[in-house]
Amino acid sequence: MISKRSIERVIETAKVEEVISNFVNLKRRGVNLIGLCPFHDEKTPSFTVSPAKNIYKCFGCGKGGNAVNFVMEHEGYSYIEAIKFLAQMYHIELEEIEMTGEQKEAEAKRDSLFIINEWAKKRFSNNLFNTQQGVNIGLAYFKERGFRESIIKKFDLGFASADSKDLFNAAKREGYNIDFLKELGLVSEREMDFFRNRVMFTIHNLTGKAIGFAGRIMGNNPKLPKYINSPESDIYNKRKILYGLYFAKNEIRKQEHCILVEGYTDVLSLVQSGIENVVASSGTSLTTDQIRLIKRYTNTIKILYDGDAAGINAALRGMDMILAENMVVKLVILPEKHDPDSYIKEVGPAEFINYIAENEKDFILFKTNLLLEEASSDPVKKAYILKDIVGTLSKVPDPLIRAMYVKECSNLLDVDEKILNSEINKIIKKEIRERNQRKIRNEKVDSSMEVVDKQDKLIADTQTFLKQSDEYQEKEVIRVLMEKGHAFYDETQGLLIVDFILMEVLDLLDYFDNPIYKKIIKFVKDIRDRGAVPDRNDYFNAEEDIREKYFELIMTPYEYADWQRKGMELQTQKHPDKNQFNEANQAIWRLKYKKLNKLIKYNQENIIKNSDNSEQYNTLIKLHMKLLNERKNLANLLNIVIQ
Ligand SMILES: [Zn+2]
Repeated sequence: MISKRSIERVIETAKVEEVISNFVNLKRRGVNLIGLCPFHDEKTPSFTVSPAKNIYKCFGCGKGGNAVNFVMEHEGYSYIEAIKFLAQMYHIELEEIEMTGEQKEAEAKRDSLFIINEWAKKRFSNNLFNTQQGVNIGLAYFKERGFRESIIKKFDLGFASADSKDLFNAAKREGYNIDFLKELGLVSEREMDFFRNRVMFTIHNLTGKAIGFAGRIMGNNPKLPKYINSPESDIYNKRKILYGLYFAKNEIRKQEHCILVEGYTDVLSLVQSGIENVVASSGTSLTTDQIRLIKRYTNTIKILYDGDAAGINAALRGMDMILAENMVVKLVILPEKHDPDSYIKEVGPAEFINYIAENEKDFILFKTNLLLEEASSDPVKKAYILKDIVGTLSKVPDPLIRAMYVKECSNLLDVDEKILNSEINKIIKKEIRERNQRKIRNEKVDSSMEVVDKQDKLIADTQTFLKQSDEYQEKEVIRVLMEKGHAFYDETQGLLIVDFILMEVLDLLDYFDNPIYKKIIKFVKDIRDRGAVPDRNDYFNAEEDIREKYFELIMTPYEYADWQRKGMELQTQKHPDKNQFNEANQAIWRLKYKKLNKLIKYNQENIIKNSDNSEQYNTLIKLHMKLLNERKNLANLLNIVIQ
């Protein structure tokens, strides 16, 4: 075991900014460094490294910690592996000390699991090349499939004996811990071999260690599953592993795309033919974690699937997940009755690469076409397709790419672009709201200590805010709209402040007290509906009352933002470019809060008036509860103390 003293030395020596610089491009901003977060997708950096505190924190996804945490999270290392990595980086010699029995067991378990898997891997390989059964059944199978010895050895292929106790007896003889073999799924509770009469595929982690196996049955026994996999263990998490990635990662970087196939043998065939940037998601359907693994090396995934219905459906699943990670997805459907393995064998590598280049289809257009074929002229089905496609389009984060898709889908579906856009915006609006509420909740937890300190002051500020007339809130919303409308509210979603405010405010327009603000909103909406983003020239050239209001508001930008600034002090570290986001949120929330208070009062009067009409009364009471709940949520967002 590594001594506590040397672990402490590693932690003291490791400078978080130096460690992270190995993986993330960091730029100085004030006392901190910032960069694009490696743990979630973003275009404006919210990943912050503080050399002074020796920690990092992402204000987008909430991940944070010290150098050790970073290496664990980023490289998928265990604690000890991370310490070893850092020790190597800083040339620190690790002192080994004797462990107590209990420690030894706990610490060594992971190592033991790796050692046993390594041993099993070698045994399967030895079976394949050096036993009669292995050569006659296993090796014969691989040879028949056209796999050369070099690829069989590179990928650690093997053979599990038909003898039901082969591996178990060998392990026992050599003194391995049978409980660990059970945990790895190599032997069953009844102490029989789990993999029997199967050719074996070793599953490697990113450092090339054997963490699990998959076995394909030999012979024809329809009762047995064709493939079986190791169960999950301390060292094997199916959702975070892609078959072949250890061998493919450098080539994926070089080729700037990753080819995703379905099966182990598809990977082997392609690699053997010289196409090495290929992985398979075997054992599970594609997960977000797997997509993020690929994203460490490239932004483009080309999915190769069999030309049958099952293959196409498999390809369609998981696609929205890839889009949401801001990756480019191309789909290649192979000729009918072919899989990648059979097709490359038939036509050879050059023609295969050619086929991919000529047949790769953009995923969204492919999906739209496919759904249209299925629905033919049924209007009910078509409405359903529309909903499906709109959902998918809303997952495309880049506004320019999305606009292109909207155009093409609008043609394919014969639906007005405006309708598509408005449906997409509804979904995006809902998602942004949910995400921001999550984000704000996270940040609030971080700053909860400060909130306690400032509670008294907060109550006083709340009183001031509630005493202000609605005029202030309406004015503040219009100020943000005119001054910051062209800026991004959410860059990853391509949503501008102007769009955010229009979306939020249009329902409230009837409740506006001041007609000039209503007029400005309609003025802005007209410009926006024409596809332009209103800027200062529009306001300069507008009617006199709008122009005057514009100058009034931009000359005194912070007059009404005083309370808001106080509120913002309560939230930890903000990037300057996040201010527009906060300003827009605060302005909208405060306006809504004000209007909601009015509605609640109005509704209460109605309840009293209708106290003898039980049906009406019940409806109003329900509405009352709903309004109160909404007010509570807003108050929470605004740090308002309801008394
Ligand atoms: Zn993040």
